[in-house]
Amino acid sequence: MASLKDLQNFSSDLPGQSERMPALFIGHGSPMNGIEDNPFSQSWSALGKSVATPAAVLCISAHWLTEGTHVTAMEHPRTIHDFYGFPQALFNVQYPAPGSPELAKATAAQVKKTSIGMDHEWGLDHGTWSVVRQMYPEANVPVLQLSIDYARPATYHYELARELSALRSKGVLIIGSGNMVHNLRMLNWREPQGGFDWAIEMNETFKNLIRKDDHTALMNYEKLGPAAKLSIPTPDHYYPLIYTLGLKEKGESVEIFNDTLTMGSVSMTSLRIS
Ligand code: ZN
Repeated sequence: MASLKDLQNFSSDLPGQSERMPALFIGHGSPMNGIEDNPFSQSWSALGKSVATPAAVLCISAHWLTEGTHVTAMEHPRTIHDFYGFPQALFNVQYPAPGSPELAKATAAQVKKTSIGMDHEWGLDHGTWSVVRQMYPEANVPVLQLSIDYARPATYHYELARELSALRSKGVLIIGSGNMVHNLRMLNWREPQGGFDWAIEMNETFKNLIRKDDHTALMNYEKLGPAAKLSIPTPDHYYPLIYTLGLKEKGESVEIFNDTLTMGSVSMTSLRIS
């Protein structure tokens, strides 16, 4: 059993990690953002330079949905190419960041709400590596993923994130990676930029609720009307936002960036909480 001591041990040999790391929500969009040089990838690269180098990254990706909650616990997580129909260059990407079995144990020890399983099978899916390789191209920061227990409601994920927040003061950069508005069936391939009216409306609603700290309304997204139904046909890309909101501490501010819609039905809107 991991204990709080593991967490202390994990953090004790990390220099200069007494300050709380920001919490991020990143709208990851197309996997191509992982290899393209575009405004999104440039913003991720800039983030990697502007945030103090973390002891580790813990990412909640929209692309790892499980029964129960698990954390990657291997020394060397593999790069997962969980998409199809993209150029070979994307399949050729390897992101050899190390894992951290110590932080995996410390993460489990931090959480009382549920028992977090140690995972030795998954690795880094594109929800994680497309963003993190742009932030840390040298792959020299340990990266872990926490899975999304897909049978659970938003409140579960929010409360779990509340418990994880203490890791931020141990040098861990926690990233929720999804998209607030995400409807792949309605993608408009002819319009790389811009959004449908309902997508723009919902993106505005999300931002207003985020600025007001109305996390209750955001957790009850099903009650936000027809635009919400179109924007969140399934909650896989939305739950990472709920994690990031759960990490917000009193007095912290939210900076919104990449506030734009792509292909009609995907919002890239992202948050930096610090
Ligand atoms: Zn995705």
